[in-house]
Amino acid sequence: MRIARFSLDGNVAFGVVEGDAETEGGPVLDIIKGHPFAEFERSGQKLPLKQVRLLPPVLPNKVVGVGRNYAEHARELGNEVPDVPVVFFKPSTAVCGPHDPVTYPSFSSEVHYEAELAVVIGRLCKDVPRERVKDVILGYTCGNDVTARDIQRSESQWARAKGFDTSCPLGPWVETELDPSDLGVMCTVNGEQRQLGRTSEMVRSVEDLVVHITGAMTLLPGDVILTGTPAGVGPLAVGDEVAVTIEGIGTLTNKVVKRD
Ligand code: MG
Repeated sequence: MRIARFSLDGNVAFGVVEGDAETEGGPVLDIIKGHPFAEFERSGQKLPLKQVRLLPPVLPNKVVGVGRNYAEHARELGNEVPDVPVVFFKPSTAVCGPHDPVTYPSFSSEVHYEAELAVVIGRLCKDVPRERVKDVILGYTCGNDVTARDIQRSESQWARAKGFDTSCPLGPWVETELDPSDLGVMCTVNGEQRQLGRTSEMVRSVEDLVVHITGAMTLLPGDVILTGTPAGVGPLAVGDEVAVTIEGIGTLTNKVVKRD
């Protein structure tokens, strides 16, 4: 099931996406009564997807990023795969949605895209044992861990490099029925392919990461784990259109704009 969050005439709601681009009239949203973090009902009230503005599919309390989780990507930046996963935060204020602008920060001259599978947490959890990981995940969406690479190199903490406003596009929706172990992850810039990997290349699996992260901190419903990016990262320029596509989920597209 695909669950989107959207706004229409100033109201925000969740809806189940039915159909796809092939469907006559295009996909529709069946509006949910309540929210997807508890049992919910579909209202039966349907809207064409193209009539609404999609929002980030969740509003995370925190986004937990994982660095260097694909060996080839670690190597391309001159790093080793770490013995213990590198974990960092992106603040909730970095999150933006499908087709929202990514604002090129004034303090950087080298901003990179990073296409990533994003795990959406469905319930409050801590110290999750491996066999319970499935129970705490609501689903998966596409993420772009937009990074000011020059600042990441020059500052030992990555809060500015990876935490600036609009540095965490998420969407277009949460897919709740998906095996995350071997999905294609692709990034294009202006329609040209830049990254193409598979989640099977991840050094630590989704299960490993949930066990590791919840061993340290409580995750809340709507929290997001960014699982790392495959090789092929590179620069974005103002005016570029960057698209992250994950097999079985969809495509998250954003345009890079200059700060006014
Ligand atoms: Mg990343």
